[in-house]
Amino acid sequence: MTTQSPPPDGVSRRTFLRGAGAGLGLTMLGGASATASPLGGFGTALSGRFSRTVGATDVLRLARVAVRGPEEAAFVLGHFDDTHRVFDDGAIEVLLWPGDLARLTASGLRYDITVEDVVERDQRALAAADTQSAAGGSLPGERDDYRTLAQFEDDLLGLVARFGDKARLIVLPERSLEGRRVIGIEIADDVHRVDGRPVWYMDGLHHAREWPSGELTLMFAFDLLENPQDDDRIAGLRRDTRTILVPVVNPDGFSWSRDALVQVSDPYASLPLAIAGLEAYWRKNRRGLIDETILPWLQRNPTSYGVDVNRNYSARWGGPGASGEPVLQDHRGEYPFSEPESRNVAALLRERQPVALNSNHTYTGLVLRPWGHTGGDGRFTPDEDIMRDLGAAMCEHNGYENWHSIDLYATTGTTVDWGYAALGALSYTFEIGFDNFHPPYAGDDGALHHYRLNREAFILLGETARFQHVEHRVWDRDTGDFGGTVAYPTHARITGAVVDGDGNPLPAELSVQRTTRIPLGSAADEEFYEEESRAQAATDGDGRLDWRLPPSTTPTAIEREETEAWELEIRAAGETVHKSVVVERGETAELGEIRIGEPTRGNGNERGNGRGLLRERPSRPNR
Ligand SMILES: [Zn+2]
Repeated sequence: MTTQSPPPDGVSRRTFLRGAGAGLGLTMLGGASATASPLGGFGTALSGRFSRTVGATDVLRLARVAVRGPEEAAFVLGHFDDTHRVFDDGAIEVLLWPGDLARLTASGLRYDITVEDVVERDQRALAAADTQSAAGGSLPGERDDYRTLAQFEDDLLGLVARFGDKARLIVLPERSLEGRRVIGIEIADDVHRVDGRPVWYMDGLHHAREWPSGELTLMFAFDLLENPQDDDRIAGLRRDTRTILVPVVNPDGFSWSRDALVQVSDPYASLPLAIAGLEAYWRKNRRGLIDETILPWLQRNPTSYGVDVNRNYSARWGGPGASGEPVLQDHRGEYPFSEPESRNVAALLRERQPVALNSNHTYTGLVLRPWGHTGGDGRFTPDEDIMRDLGAAMCEHNGYENWHSIDLYATTGTTVDWGYAALGALSYTFEIGFDNFHPPYAGDDGALHHYRLNREAFILLGETARFQHVEHRVWDRDTGDFGGTVAYPTHARITGAVVDGDGNPLPAELSVQRTTRIPLGSAADEEFYEEESRAQAATDGDGRLDWRLPPSTTPTAIEREETEAWELEIRAAGETVHKSVVVERGETAELGEIRIGEPTRGNGNERGNGRGLLRERPSRPNR
């Protein structure tokens, strides 16, 4: 980057607050500029509340920035709020926050402003959408506009109440920084039964402004439970798998972004929001200079700068594509899992071991697969073939583009890379929508339209949990063409039967545990974050075990040419036996008959190929 001005570094505290969007400064401007407006319907509320009074520079703009080569691209991505859109000529779309235009100009890069005022553009789009009736039939969970945080919670609780044996409430372990709880739903026939069915997982709203990502995640919950089309594949997912959905990972950020438009009944809560008009575009969580909310009942931190939750996971944390600067929109936080939102997701998934994962985002119509980082030897993952071809199959339905994440640009510390690296789940990020973080709900780029597009893609992903092998056509990344069909392995399986000394079935509880090392940073594997995984299962009434899990060896261990095992513990009749099980993707570890206890009399009853094998490390008595 020889011809460019040096990047503006050494961000001052003042810039920091300005760059962080509608934060402290705007809150302080308070009463003088608040405009009373009749806030009837949603559209009316929007036009009233988006009348900004803090000056002409206080707008959000979209710019298309030309870059010549990777250094300039890295500069743009490292200093501005990119939207994920990269044009064919390599130009990058960025959202310019107040102050960014001057910095972009100072950088010497060529750019075009493509949208002069994003808030105004969206306000117009919404007004236009208001005049149309929501076309089309009703979809599962369909509404007439985006849910607020409270409506997400009500709908999740409502589903659990309506479908008690098929839906279980999941409360994630930690509250958010502003004290909100984070909830999800687990969906399966006879959901409360403990067994070995495979788990798969989707979430939304890591990023506050990406409202459709939460909507689609929740709509899929309605779809699975209501099954309005009497769809065998939906019924199959419910019968054979456990689906865990967490629509709102980042409730503080989402509430700040979404509830800004409706929280008019509380004058204290809505006052700063009415002034700024930009908070709907808030991306990060609500980490602040002070992390107690000054007015706890408001659940609003006025000093917030925010951490990008989707850069705060351990996988390659500290590498490129995430910033150490709090002012920046991809700020990775102080250390891996410094934020309750990422800790929540990781804690949940380490206990449940999903075999497939999709973290929903908006926008630009992409299906992204690991890796997102540069460096290291494995440019492609060990599971590139299946994730590429499954990605292509999903893209045939949603019309998105199928990308290896690093080919878009570098990211580190993301959910998708962590889910794949730490768990071995087949992992994706969906960038939903084409033109906007949250377009009009029922419009042609809105949540309803994109639910229709993505429903089949979600089912396909779920079927990698349902079936241990799936068939997909081979997709050529260069031409975009499909070739012949190949059967791919999706997950691992452990089978066996637990019996007592006389060969009678024994009810048994089982757990697995694994510790793996996840590389931090970008280059050689020098620093690691230790991740512990565990999961629980139980035998059925006949003492049989059929347990679907991610492969025992995690992908970064495969890259290091290591083998990892599930440390299996079987507890029955007051005894515990242990075994190390190495079982890779597509494989089944057949443990045969696992005998626990001595025969009550006589002959020893020689049967079962698991006998003796599992006696290697007996430990008793149990607890
Ligand atoms: Zn996002």
